[in-house]
Amino acid sequence: MSHAPNVYDAEPIPEAARAEIDRLLQSGDLFRYTAPQDSPVALLEAEFAALMGAKFALAVSSCSNALFLSLKALGLPRAARILIPAFTFAAVPSAVVHADCRPVLVEVGDNFRVNMDDFAAKLTNDIQAVIISHMRGHTSDMDAIMALCDARQIPVIEDAAHSLGTTWHGQNIGTIGKIGCFSFQSYKLVNAGEGGIMITDDADIIAQAIIMSGAYEHNWKKHPVVHDRFDFWQNKLPLYNLRMQNLSAAVIRPQLPEVARRVQDGRRNHDYVASQLNQSPWLSVPESLPPEMRAPDSIQFNLVGFDDEETLAYAQAAQARGIKVQVFGLSQDNARAFWNWKFIGETPELPQTRSMLMRACDVRLPARLQQDDLEFVADALVSAANDIRAQRPVYGT
Ligand SMILES: *Cc1c(COP(=O)(O)O)cnc(C)c1O
Repeated sequence: MSHAPNVYDAEPIPEAARAEIDRLLQSGDLFRYTAPQDSPVALLEAEFAALMGAKFALAVSSCSNALFLSLKALGLPRAARILIPAFTFAAVPSAVVHADCRPVLVEVGDNFRVNMDDFAAKLTNDIQAVIISHMRGHTSDMDAIMALCDARQIPVIEDAAHSLGTTWHGQNIGTIGKIGCFSFQSYKLVNAGEGGIMITDDADIIAQAIIMSGAYEHNWKKHPVVHDRFDFWQNKLPLYNLRMQNLSAAVIRPQLPEVARRVQDGRRNHDYVASQLNQSPWLSVPESLPPEMRAPDSIQFNLVGFDDEETLAYAQAAQARGIKVQVFGLSQDNARAFWNWKFIGETPELPQTRSMLMRACDVRLPARLQQDDLEFVADALVSAANDIRAQRPVYGT
């Protein structure tokens, strides 16, 4: 019998990183602004912008800090109201609070995407920006979102932390809104332990974000693209020091050529397991929206017709079969359950998002898994549902 795959281990970092890390350790050149030009962090910014088809990129210490700097660079007034999906990671409302703004939560449906009726209703005149979290890589209806926001000139920030490699009508996710933010934390497609990057085509936004990230004095001159907005913002902005260091860039850069392969493998893995799960009457993997080409490294599915007790029993049955299932709304103090975000003050009641979170299951499915691993995962998830259903009394026969 095959063994349960380890879904937490990362892929090895490409060999090419070692020589560069060794060089940096030899010279001690770890700070991005020591070298007069072409530091590893600056090279990463140029390469990432080219990969995504964006004009500018700024590498920082995390995606959360990229979101924070994005909000600051929009020049929003204190207490500005920011629309965010109610299904996201706690770091997103946290970035809003960090930027002295107030999150307004929008319902998310059981297909894990923003409910567009609730979005339209909550996009009132006092909303000053929108963050769309493509949570677990699920893309909401960006056509409808951009049409509504463009009509009111409300800037959209894409939280693409978990969406590197996803496309919408063939366009890279993260380049649709005014700003796109990505993560290099270990559970994302490119792993540096920690790290983040923001991309934009807006010269005024990138100049502000670069200065605020900690390009003190004239260090902005060491970034790949220099323009006249830096002179304008000189000495007018606080320095939050959220920079990336050279070792992180040395770990990330050799992974960029791997992205296309990881995306392809992740999609193959996901689609195979999804096809198996969808054959069970008790499990449902929502379809992606037609313009979306996904880049998944995990799978989410809903339990059909299960109550809370059966849902908990399902997670235990899957665990007994070697696969850890997280039910977002039922695991204690889950950071993706909006009612646990006590730091934003009183959270509104959002029945649709709540009912989704109570039945939505989350299983990691890294791109490196092989066919026998995938068969093991699919079999465990389907069999666990059968275990629970077999215990239920059958009526009417
Ligand atoms: C991981 C993640 C974040 C936070 O990224 P960090 O780099 O850890 O700050 C934000 N949003 C989403 C959707 C994520 O998956």
